Amino acid sequence: MVPPNDTLSTYRRKRDFRRTPEPSGGKTGSSEKPLFVIQKHDAGNLHYDLRLEMDGALRSWAVPKGPSTDPREKRLAVPTEDHPLDYADFEGVIPEGQYGAGTVLVWDTGPYRNLRSEKKDDGLSMTESFADGKIEVWLEGRKIKGGYALIRTGKDERWLLVKMDDDEADARRNPVSTEPKSVLSGQTLEQIAAKSSG
Ligand code: MN
Repeated sequence: MVPPNDTLSTYRRKRDFRRTPEPSGGKTGSSEKPLFVIQKHDAGNLHYDLRLEMDGALRSWAVPKGPSTDPREKRLAVPTEDHPLDYADFEGVIPEGQYGAGTVLVWDTGPYRNLRSEKKDDGLSMTESFADGKIEVWLEGRKIKGGYALIRTGKDERWLLVKMDDDEADARRNPVSTEPKSVLSGQTLEQIAAKSSG
């Protein structure tokens, strides 16, 4: 089954690369250690974009409340268009009038592992897991670690992001509010926005 977001054509069609500082996507190929990134994006409505390197691109979901470290919390994750691999370290300001206008920072990033492929009785690749509507990954970020499941629900193509119950689960942590800054630059959204307006 071909995933619905298997190319960057939607990504490119939505953007004018003469105006936005976002990458048009030149980097290709697959990594030995695939990456995840969570970008904090203030586009009028603040949200977190979870992206997983798959099929030579970053498959993406918008997570309004961001990830939780509490397995009892289910976070809505709305699929969005694939982004290019070089988007993983993008932070800056998307100008007004452009798609997704607002400030972006890299809230967390690191390698991930596909947990389903490691199970003998399961063994699904990321592409197959996506088609199956159930992804299980181990994230090795600075703020976010451990197993996370992404589960497609019903017919409206909404997904849920849920912390799996493992040693990294911690109902008392709330990194979305206690660790707001970029892991790349150490800056807040406000600092990135201020620098951009010069
Ligand atoms: Mn976004």
